[in-house]
Amino acid sequence: MGTNYYWRDRICTPCGRYDEIHVGKGGALFRGYRHVLLNTEHPDWGYSEHSPFDEPVLSRSDWLRILAGRPGELYDEYGKRIPNPIGWLAALTPPAPEQIRQQDADRAAERAASRWQFEPEAGTEWRDAEGFRFYAREFS
Ligand SMILES: [Zn+2]
Repeated sequence: MGTNYYWRDRICTPCGRYDEIHVGKGGALFRGYRHVLLNTEHPDWGYSEHSPFDEPVLSRSDWLRILAGRPGELYDEYGKRIPNPIGWLAALTPPAPEQIRQQDADRAAERAASRWQFEPEAGTEWRDAEGFRFYAREFS
């Protein structure tokens, strides 16, 4: 289905630990974060829609703006570092209209076939203005 990409944020120089933030799967599906956590005294990292940044992530242009100049590194799920994350993001090609129709048809069939799953909450799947798909939940 595609390779997952993760942003390593707040990398600690002495020990090498970092926060791992899911960016998405290849260029086919982005991870979106709809909400911004306002009460930082009571963080709720278990709630998957909270943005790990101080603003929501709703589009590729959001990802580009947030990651540009931010300390951190992009890795794929196999541990390979992406040397130029911004260039990589910027080079992704939005789906053509025919691809969008196919993706939507596949998604509708997938949902119809998996009745045991909960329906995704309204608004947790969307496309940005360029046509890139976003899910505001964990996926792999
Ligand atoms: Zn450390």
